[in-house]
Amino acid sequence: MTIRVAIAGARGKMGKEAVHTVMNNPEMELVSVLDYKEVGKTLADTNLFPADFTAPIFLDLKELHSKTQPDVLVDLTTPEFVYDHTKHALELKIRPVVGTTGFSDEELEELTALSRNSKIGCIIAPNFAVGAVLMMKFAEQAAKYLPDIEIIEMHHDQKLDAPSGTAMKTAHLISQERPIHEQGHVREKETIPGARGANYDGMRIHSVRLPGLVAHQQVLLGGDGQLLTLRHDSFNRGSFMSGVVLSIKTVMEKEELIYGLEHIIV
Ligand code: NAP
Repeated sequence: MTIRVAIAGARGKMGKEAVHTVMNNPEMELVSVLDYKEVGKTLADTNLFPADFTAPIFLDLKELHSKTQPDVLVDLTTPEFVYDHTKHALELKIRPVVGTTGFSDEELEELTALSRNSKIGCIIAPNFAVGAVLMMKFAEQAAKYLPDIEIIEMHHDQKLDAPSGTAMKTAHLISQERPIHEQGHVREKETIPGARGANYDGMRIHSVRLPGLVAHQQVLLGGDGQLLTLRHDSFNRGSFMSGVVLSIKTVMEKEELIYGLEHIIV
C-alpha cells in the first residue's frame, strides 16, 4: 500500500529535503502541501522544485484533507503553528509526524490524550537523526553513574526555540536516572545573568546560536578526576531523512502518540 503523505512547511530547509525524500520513495506518494500564505497552486509554482513536482498547495487543513485524503501529515513548520496543526490533524484522523520543536509539556499531554482517545497514531520526534537518538540513550544510561551533567546544544542562528527540543528531550531522559540536585558551588553567583545557562532540575543547558552550524549537541558528565563527553553532529539535513521515512512508515501502525524516535528504533 502506498502511504499518502502531506507536508506542512515544504518551502523550509527541512521541508524541501522531506519533499525530495517522499518523492523518491516508492512506498510513498506526496499528495499535498499545507502552507499559510499564497505561494502558488502547486509545489512547482514556488520555483523551489522541479516542474514535475505537482502536489497541490492548500491554506486550510480541512480542505486539504477532503480533497487529497492524506494518511500522514509531516509537520516541519514553526513552534507557533505546530500545536494547532497536530491537534487539527488528529481531529481529522490524519496521522501527524512532527519534526517541529517547541511543544510545552501541557501541549504534549493534551496531544497524547487526543491521540489515545481517537486511536490515531502520532509521532513527535525532536530529532530525526539516529545518531542523536543514540547519544540521548547513552546519556540516560551514563547519568546513573555520573549524575553531574551539563548539556551544550549548538544550532544555526535562524532557530526560533531555545533550548532545542533535543536538549529538552535529553534532559527529560537523563532525569529518569539522575536524582534532582543543584550542581556547582552553593554560593555560586552569576556576574552576568544567564552565564550558567538554563536550569533543568539543577542540571545546566547552554544554547549556542551561530551561522554555519546545523544541529550539534554535547552532553558532559563529570565525576571525580574524569569527564565523559557524548557528542553528536548533524552536518546537513540529509541526516534527518532516514528518521522521517521510518516515522512515516511506523505511524501507520500506531494508535497512540510516541514522543521520541528512541521508542521506535529499538
Ligand atoms: P525553516 O527553514 O524556517 O522552515 C519552516 C518553513 O515553514 C518555512 O518555509 C515557513 O514559511 C513555513 N511555515 C511557517 N508557518 C507555516 C504554517 N503555518 N503552515 C505551513 N508552513 C509554514 O525551518 P527548518 O530549519 O526547516 O525547521 C523547521 C522546524 O523543524 C523547526 O521547528 C526546527 O527546529 C525543526 N527541526 C527539527 C529537526 C528534527 O530532527 N526533528 C531537525 C531540524 C529542524 P515562511 O518562511 O514563509 O514563514
